[in-house]
Amino acid sequence: MLARKERLPHALLVRGPEGIGKVGFAEALAAALLCEDPGRQGAACGRCAACGWMTQDSHPDFRRLAPEALGGSGENDEEGRERKASLQIPVDAVRGISAFVTMSSHRSGAKVVLIHPAEALNVNAANALLKNLEEPPPRTYFVLVAHRWHDLPATVRSRCEHVVLGIPDAATARDWLEREGVRDPALSLAQAGGMPLLAREFDDAYWQTRHDFLAAITSPEFAPLEAAERLRECAPALAAGWMQKWSFDLALRKLTGRARYNPDYADQIAATAAQLDAREALRFHRAAVQLQRIVSHPLNPRLFVEQLLLEYAGLLRRPALDPAE
Ligand SMILES: [Zn+2]
Repeated sequence: MLARKERLPHALLVRGPEGIGKVGFAEALAAALLCEDPGRQGAACGRCAACGWMTQDSHPDFRRLAPEALGGSGENDEEGRERKASLQIPVDAVRGISAFVTMSSHRSGAKVVLIHPAEALNVNAANALLKNLEEPPPRTYFVLVAHRWHDLPATVRSRCEHVVLGIPDAATARDWLEREGVRDPALSLAQAGGMPLLAREFDDAYWQTRHDFLAAITSPEFAPLEAAERLRECAPALAAGWMQKWSFDLALRKLTGRARYNPDYADQIAATAAQLDAREALRFHRAAVQLQRIVSHPLNPRLFVEQLLLEYAGLLRRPALDPAE
């Protein structure tokens, strides 16, 4: 793909599931387009001035459009308070891009606009972007990245050439994780739901806290309030994520006899699932998923974990109504 760079369409939509490296791919593509001494295959050299600016995200002919909440420009309001970061890419941001597109290139080479996640473009922003996508100046490239790409207006989708990235098969992913120095590739991959980039991010602290959390909720002496006290340093988002995976495994074990995320706790999952009613387990799992949606801003982190554990204790107290299931 990089080797035929000169014939690259001016608008690309990189799409595929979350956590498989779409942004990394798009960044590599942008770097290759801007590199001033690319290799024969067209990849960025990593040594020229352009490559240096790219690693610092400061290339004058490169723009990145992202929602404020993902590190786009956060602004303060008049009283100096931090404005609530938006999850959308607003139309003003796209207008700024229009100006960038019409300017001539600083380095007399390509100009690249990376938009991620493209589904964060609100309706007005998408419409403003359309004008740019229609007839950009030569050597101006738009690289859009999306996993919920169906949410993009059809007009935007149809103006882009689609690059579809898929989840690598498990063996390929495990080999890659092994080369990256991940200690237990199979477990990391399971914990990440098959997403290798996510699997690589788990560090020792992650595994230790996860162990503390699962040890607490699988202990025969599990007492929610004491467990919450012991887990007081645990981030609510992590606790909610583990509970979501754990309850998924309980329900899956009930329904199919297997576990997905926590293969290292297969015995405990089997023992717990045996005590549960399948419908109650599923209901609890759905509630845990809902909780994870609000977890980025809990009012009180400590109370959040406490409540989570109390509800789990409640599930454990409801016996299987229909042992035949
Ligand atoms: Zn270079």
